[in-house]
Amino acid sequence: MDRRSLFLEHIAQTSSDPLYLRPVEARGTVIRDAEGREYLDMVAGISVTNMGHGHPAVIKAIREQTERYLHLMVYGEFDQAPQTEYAAALASVLPSSLSVVYFVTSGSEAVEGALKLAKRYTGRHEVVSFHKAYHGSTTGALSVMGGDDYSRAYRPLVPGVQRIPFNDPEALERITHKTACVLVEPVQGEAGVIPPAPGYLEALRKRCKETGTLLLYDEVQTGLGRTGELFAFMKYGVAPDILILAKALGGGLPLGAFITSPKIMNALSHHPPLGHITTFGGHPLSCAAGLAAFRELLASGIMKEVASKEKFIREKMQHPLIREVRSSGLLFAIDLPDRETAEKTVRRALEKGVISDWFLFREEAFRISPPLTITYEELEQGCNIFLETLDEIRKR
Ligand code: PMP
Repeated sequence: MDRRSLFLEHIAQTSSDPLYLRPVEARGTVIRDAEGREYLDMVAGISVTNMGHGHPAVIKAIREQTERYLHLMVYGEFDQAPQTEYAAALASVLPSSLSVVYFVTSGSEAVEGALKLAKRYTGRHEVVSFHKAYHGSTTGALSVMGGDDYSRAYRPLVPGVQRIPFNDPEALERITHKTACVLVEPVQGEAGVIPPAPGYLEALRKRCKETGTLLLYDEVQTGLGRTGELFAFMKYGVAPDILILAKALGGGLPLGAFITSPKIMNALSHHPPLGHITTFGGHPLSCAAGLAAFRELLASGIMKEVASKEKFIREKMQHPLIREVRSSGLLFAIDLPDRETAEKTVRRALEKGVISDWFLFREEAFRISPPLTITYEELEQGCNIFLETLDEIRKR
């Protein structure tokens, strides 16, 4: 049986038509396949490999941690150096109210943990989330998703969730004294990169304060330098009560976290204790890799280049088929006339050696979110291939 058939037969498929690439090696922004073809990675595993593939400091940290120990004990019992040091490093760059880190394994698990914590701390059970929000694929995370198509079949979901439109100040009235928390992506990702309107996060923060509601930011996709600041909320100067991270947090290994104040986090460990339990949460290998990537992110000064790289893409991506370009740092949605054009663009660009992707809730757009370490030459090369692809589609 050939390799492709083996993949199709034995790997659970998430759609009827996977992109299918057979990588053998990845370095920096380049993924090489089994035939020796090189692909420019313009999505970074969906905003994961912010420091590029196979970063030497990350590989070194993984090697060294492998020699010391792997899994030892369920999360929270032992003082494992990579976890403790990474938590302290994160706390050192965050507002003082975000000082306690609960490490988990994924974005979905971090969302689940944060929602549980908000209910537990406030004693309330209602949650407000947003239209076109994506927070993960587990049942709790599906319950706060901003569209029914992907969750309808799994009903009944967790009750007590209200979805409101993003960037609509009037809808904030639906946050009440019964609302445990508001869960929001400060820059919406899967909606097709929608930044907050001026003053919107301030208004949200104010309403949460008035009603005693916790404000939760899902920065799974926007965290760790993606938007040009360490965290997107730092662009807008409005901090959350609980910050949710994953994706780039593990430097390429699986890792998620929810971060809050000692007072709030304390609710999970008392009466009864063990409010959230995770065997592999904060795996020492993931924390070692994540900490190495995080230190490199800070030391390399790469975040300072994000704004000029964003500008470069914005100037370059002009084409009669492009309807709108939305971005926040190196997270881009390029709107095309329709779903079919977006579908063709991603598939044809892949044939030409550039990896991109779509969005869950913006079917006419495609995504650009390369490693932050991408060079200007690579950006030029990648954008040229997208433009060439659009030319070909237009001529047909
Ligand atoms: N929140 C956001 C904003 C995301 O983009 C994602 C993943 N795309 C998740 C949560 C879920 O993360 P994971 O796939 O690691 O469970």
